[in-house]
Amino acid sequence: MNAVNAEAGGADDPPVAGGCHCGAVRFEVDLDRAQDLDGEGRLRLTECNCSICSATGFLHWIVPASRFRLLAGEQALTEYRFGTGAARHLFCSRCGVKSFYVPRSHPDGFSVNARCVSLEDHPSIHELVAEPFDGRQWEENIAALHEKERWR
Ligand SMILES: [Zn+2]
Repeated sequence: MNAVNAEAGGADDPPVAGGCHCGAVRFEVDLDRAQDLDGEGRLRLTECNCSICSATGFLHWIVPASRFRLLAGEQALTEYRFGTGAARHLFCSRCGVKSFYVPRSHPDGFSVNARCVSLEDHPSIHELVAEPFDGRQWEENIAALHEKERWR
């Protein structure tokens, strides 16, 4: 069955479910194999070393807004901004978990925390692979990050 799905080009992939720890915040993300996966079925992620990403252990799966649906928890979300104020850091006011947010690098999309999604039984995602991003030197490195994308 997995082999059949792998030929299908991704249209049949179930959405990936995610959310915060207490369950108040729940969302789903549509997988786009061509954009999200490498040839080995590994989900391409970004690990940033900036002050807030280090502190939260955030593992970035950045997707266009059209592939992200918030199913529950809009009222539970609390927003935190700092520095330029461009990023909307969102976390659950009940359990404190930051399961997704609007990043400064993609104000028109979402960065989903790969540590907060259920990938175990997904037919197409076999593993995670994270590339480092030097967010401490954000201005110097953001152009290179955008160049790697296929959806902007
Ligand atoms: Zn919560």
